[in-house]
Amino acid sequence: MTVVNNSSAAPAYLIDKARVFDGSGAASREMPVLLQGELIAAVGAAAREQAQQIDGLVSLDASGCTLMPGLIDSHCHISFDQPTSNDELFFHRRAGLATLVAAVNAQKVLRAGVTSFFDANCIFDVGIDLRDAIEGGVVEGPRMATGGNVLITSVGGTAGRLLPDSGKRGYAVIVETPEDMIREVRRQVKAGVDWIKVHVSGLPTRGKQQGEIQAWSLDELRLVCDTAHNLGVPVVGHCRNPSSTRDAARAGMDMILHATFMDEEALQAVVDAQVPLVPTLTFQANLADFGDRVGADPALRQIFRDEIAQSAVMFRRAYDAGVPLICGSESGFSLTPYGDWHYREMEIFVEHLGLTPLQAMHCATQAGARSLGLEGRLGCIAAGYLADVLVVEGDPTGDLELLGQRDKFRHLFKAGKPVDLQKELPESWRLPGWRVGQFSTQILHKTLTQNLD
Ligand SMILES: [Zn+2]
Repeated sequence: MTVVNNSSAAPAYLIDKARVFDGSGAASREMPVLLQGELIAAVGAAAREQAQQIDGLVSLDASGCTLMPGLIDSHCHISFDQPTSNDELFFHRRAGLATLVAAVNAQKVLRAGVTSFFDANCIFDVGIDLRDAIEGGVVEGPRMATGGNVLITSVGGTAGRLLPDSGKRGYAVIVETPEDMIREVRRQVKAGVDWIKVHVSGLPTRGKQQGEIQAWSLDELRLVCDTAHNLGVPVVGHCRNPSSTRDAARAGMDMILHATFMDEEALQAVVDAQVPLVPTLTFQANLADFGDRVGADPALRQIFRDEIAQSAVMFRRAYDAGVPLICGSESGFSLTPYGDWHYREMEIFVEHLGLTPLQAMHCATQAGARSLGLEGRLGCIAAGYLADVLVVEGDPTGDLELLGQRDKFRHLFKAGKPVDLQKELPESWRLPGWRVGQFSTQILHKTLTQNLD
């Protein structure tokens, strides 16, 4: 008798009896799924058939569960570490420590069922270093696509005057002339970014119009897009007013973050270009719905509530015209901590845009593969796709919040390897100078000291 030694063969898992959401948006149906090596080897009858040939196969009974692609979060800032303000983010971080901290936060993101994410812009070069460390097997984390520092003109970004007129600060690099723009794109491509990000709108408008001011000309946007595209790198824009979204689409951007406050012209440009949108309404919704619990400014709560309501109609029209909508959570700020809110964009798409849960789940799986540059290889339960698989108890199509309940996760695989869901990670940490320190929370006017009994 010949004994076949399969110890070196890739581990294989047959997951049976789960209802399978395949990522396409089609209704779930029960079928077996075979994972082998880093890929999904087969689904349905073929999975059972092929499994019979595999020695050392691990069979998992997933009765009562839903099997689906691991979530893809297409807007996550892994290097920020949940700052309460831009002051903290810009003036209280250091490169080495930020990278070490990000390596732990990446594990929190992974254990939230997010097997892939896109980080459009980072502080220092943390995104590039972390991505390479994850890919190289140095640290555990979701697969990752990353930008570098976001390109901003001296008009500024959302951080207003915290940004200098030239140089770098926090997540931003200031570019002013065409030469600056070309040089910075080339520098970032050399450093290894997957995407170039442009803050097309910035600076709040002092109440004169909705959203932010457009801080770039169309010609400047075209220059950045052409330079990056010639080097094989896609471009993503932060756009929070009508003209910035319109010009980002016309300039040839490959994805648009926010795209809130679109007017007819902006919508038409987006539809013509079929450029994917990542609305990222989770941050606004968290602030609007729960801001009172964490001391957020009530005026800001109303502004964000309005932004969601006014933008939802246009997102829906874009979606109906074939524009891909992609889920992103803006995780990384104090209002969107790592591991907690990655699922919430799906709920918002259902509640405010009127998508079905199946459509929303597609936006957080197969549609998100574009942000990773892995269309056709990621985000689906189909033979030949990467074996990023989440098995969750119950049926998320009836209750999307299940995808935010880590204790309901039965199994999680990234590239065919099981993730240890029980691993304990620190909730928070104390690091010298890392958070903003205050002298006090109030001003000690003399009147406060008087009439004290
Ligand atoms: Zn962002």
